[in-house]
Amino acid sequence: MLEFILWGTRMADRQFGFETLALHAGQIPDAATGARALPIYQTTSFVFDSADHAASLFNLQTFGNVYTRLSNPTTAAFEERCAALENGRAAVATASGQAAEMVALLNILEAGDHIVSSSKLYGGTHTMFNVNFKKLGIDATLVDPDDPENFRRAIKPNTKVIFSETLGNPAINMVDLEAVGKIAREAGVPFIVDNTAASPYLCQPLRHGADIVVHSATKFLGGHGTTMGGVVVESGKFNWGNGKFKSMTEPSQGYHGVRFFETFGDFAFTMKARMEVLRVFGPTLAPFNAWQLLQGIETLPVRMERHCANAMAVAQFLEAHPQVAWVNYPGLKSNRYHALVNRYMPKGAGALLSFGIKGGFASGVKFIESLQFISHLANIGDAKSLVIHPASTTHRQLSEEDQVKAGVPPDMVRLSIGLETLDDIVWDIEQALAAAI
Ligand SMILES: *Cc1c(COP(=O)(O)O)cnc(C)c1O
Repeated sequence: MLEFILWGTRMADRQFGFETLALHAGQIPDAATGARALPIYQTTSFVFDSADHAASLFNLQTFGNVYTRLSNPTTAAFEERCAALENGRAAVATASGQAAEMVALLNILEAGDHIVSSSKLYGGTHTMFNVNFKKLGIDATLVDPDDPENFRRAIKPNTKVIFSETLGNPAINMVDLEAVGKIAREAGVPFIVDNTAASPYLCQPLRHGADIVVHSATKFLGGHGTTMGGVVVESGKFNWGNGKFKSMTEPSQGYHGVRFFETFGDFAFTMKARMEVLRVFGPTLAPFNAWQLLQGIETLPVRMERHCANAMAVAQFLEAHPQVAWVNYPGLKSNRYHALVNRYMPKGAGALLSFGIKGGFASGVKFIESLQFISHLANIGDAKSLVIHPASTTHRQLSEEDQVKAGVPPDMVRLSIGLETLDDIVWDIEQALAAAI
């Protein structure tokens, strides 16, 4: 826990731009050595100055590092940078995106509580809500997010959180963040948004009614398919003192009787996530991974620009191709989410697109097997172009009827468009389509 000052958001009374923050927020040259690049503090533990210093660290009266499961200077730079890029107050890093969701939700939920969530979810999140949280006594109602009022209709007295993805993966649907955020505010519960598929460069949900943002940093933030990680960012604006969140306001049984909201105010959620959930359950981001993810973040703005430009061009190419039955890319005027994406993601519609190949399942398999450099794997957000045919991989155990219900019909091919030369990406897709007839 370095001081929770978002370096770079304000310096010499200047509000720095996104690109500057992506390079500098949370890090100044190393005071001990002058190193310009962020040092990797590959240590588990930190020496106390004195017995009194140790006591005040444990009492949370002094900010400082004790043990890397809780905090580490390299990881802190990653946390502060993510907070700055999401226009948030504070952040806590986690070992993966799944861990970020778990930490954010277990920080405020307990047995008997209820989640209202968009049904258009990442597969792992779907299982977390429908299977694993149910075993802990935490119930979830999944609703069609296309009508925001569906979230309101599903709220019950024990509802403690509303959850959605910005841009759903793999459905590539855009959620009306402001409308859902308003419903959450009226219900007195936080709105948690998984912003993985958009990245903070394309959308900052905290500016549009979200209270907490989570990321799989594994994807666009890291951006190179090398490193697992996640992060939870809080806005600092949610009122935890509204009577619904006793664990935020009453003395903590798990941490010296601290009252998190009273003591830490606008970064209470982050402090509790760190001192209770991360400390006890342990899904901590490794310092080396924090460093790798920060290398990725430095170039996030330029990468996202190119991801979007390439994906848009590929979507237009596919829309005009005779072997393509349909294209789902929210940057296209024909797309049902086009207006929402223009409103919440004006800089671009992201790297993900899906399309239907004529010839169905068999053509989908042939297409995938004929690609030359676009890699067949289960990931998104790599600098390299990626492809998956859900019906023959991630969703192959479902019947055709259930595949359609899950939004992954047998003819659907999902692409995560990378940063290769655009003509080469189009060439690879075109020759694979030709081979798939
Ligand atoms: C990948 C992903 C996750 C899970 O992240 P991991 O880093 O793989 O644990 C969660 N949400 C979305 C939208 C994702 O794409």
